[in-house]
Amino acid sequence: MAPMSEAEFDVAIVGGGVTGCALARALAHKRPHSKIALLEKEPKVAVHTSGRNSGVVHGGYNQKPGTLKARFCVEGNHRLKEYAAARGVPLAQTGILVVARSQAERSVLEELLRRGRENGVPGLRLVDGAELKRLEPNASGISALHAPSGASVDSAALVESFAEDAKAAGVTFYLGEGVRRIEEDGRGFRIRTARAALRARRLVNCAGLHADRIAHQLGAGLPYSIVPFRGEFYYIDPAKAGLIRSMIYSVPDIRYPFLGVHWTRTVHGKVKVGPNAVLALGREAYGTFQVHAGDTARMLLDGRFWRMVGGAEFRRLAAENLRSSLSKAAFLKQAFSLVQGAAASDFRKGPSGIRAQLVDRDGGLVDDLLVEKKGESLHVLNAISPGLTCALPFADHLARQLD
Ligand SMILES: Cc1cc2nc3c(=O)[nH]c(=O)nc-3n(C[C@H](O)[C@H](O)[C@H](O)COP(=O)(O)OP(=O)(O)OC[C@H]3O[C@@H](n4cnc5c(N)ncnc54)[C@H](O)[C@@H]3O)c2cc1C
Repeated sequence: MAPMSEAEFDVAIVGGGVTGCALARALAHKRPHSKIALLEKEPKVAVHTSGRNSGVVHGGYNQKPGTLKARFCVEGNHRLKEYAAARGVPLAQTGILVVARSQAERSVLEELLRRGRENGVPGLRLVDGAELKRLEPNASGISALHAPSGASVDSAALVESFAEDAKAAGVTFYLGEGVRRIEEDGRGFRIRTARAALRARRLVNCAGLHADRIAHQLGAGLPYSIVPFRGEFYYIDPAKAGLIRSMIYSVPDIRYPFLGVHWTRTVHGKVKVGPNAVLALGREAYGTFQVHAGDTARMLLDGRFWRMVGGAEFRRLAAENLRSSLSKAAFLKQAFSLVQGAAASDFRKGPSGIRAQLVDRDGGLVDDLLVEKKGESLHVLNAISPGLTCALPFADHLARQLD
């Protein structure tokens, strides 16, 4: 750990998730003579969203062409696999199947195929019910979109590897040092944690679930606030893990940034289903009944929140997700409609993750990566899914923005 004096840096990065650690690594390689610091409030990296996700290296067919997500997901998929192979990060190239159970869902698959082709996703194709059965004998559907480039990665190991690279290249890590206050003066930023104070000429905010609060301190991101949506997972009994070979997704509602419940084979051979998307009563409220009074009060006092929940369709979806959170049967109903051969008693609840979903002034869910530059500070306001897959090209993008 770095000494607790007022050290001076060229760049300070707030947040040791995949975004902050990938950026620290990219900057250290790009500017070997710069002094770079990364501040993380937890005692290690990847404690929050970056270590609590599905671990899927996405193909890039869900994203609307022209978005940053679309661009970075396809490039990120390829680069992440190269990186994992070179650095020994556990990754399995399983492929992904998105399964349609009705003609209406099949037409969404056609739209995903169109998007995927425009985004340059390699090997993407539609398969019929018979081929689906050959690829995944326990899946049921009338057709599927097959993305052979989809893979599964150990997301925490990936972030730790990025952090190790950054440390080896000279980045100073302040772990267990939550940023409490940032002041800007003519010389840059004075950053205070409970124990340390440091100065930096430039600042990059990669604080995930708390990015809006850091940004607001510096007058950035003012039209936005983050609303937390918890994603819950169930794990299947290891004896039944042979039920699937790859990753099996339901057809998403493409009006929303959340993908439906899916079956994931993790890189360590476990099988999990999820996540749903439940409004969380706290930015780090990982438990079903956990409430953070301060976060909840601030959310309820925010007009953006009420505009978000104003629509009937949103309320219907929120109620459906709440049901799936409170009832194991409701949760697994979605999973069993995709894959047969398991019973509810085969599943137990596992750790959940929380999406830091940015909401705009009108209550709209921001559906792309969003970065705002304000003077010498850069704020990653919406590092939504597939932020893990996008990490390497997104880090290069942030490094260019800083220039
Ligand atoms: C349920 C779920 C499933 C997902 N599945 C996938 C997937 O399969 N594939 C994919 O590509 N993406 C997936 N994602 C998205 C992906 O996980 C995120 O896009 C990504 O992890 C965001 O990383 P981050 O570094 O921006 O945020 P985080 O990982 O949250 O990191 C932010 C860090 O900032 C720190 N911090 C916050 N405030 C302060 C402060 N004041 N001082 C110091 N440190 C601070 C936090 O402790 C945290 O470590 C999923 C997300 C969720 C929630």
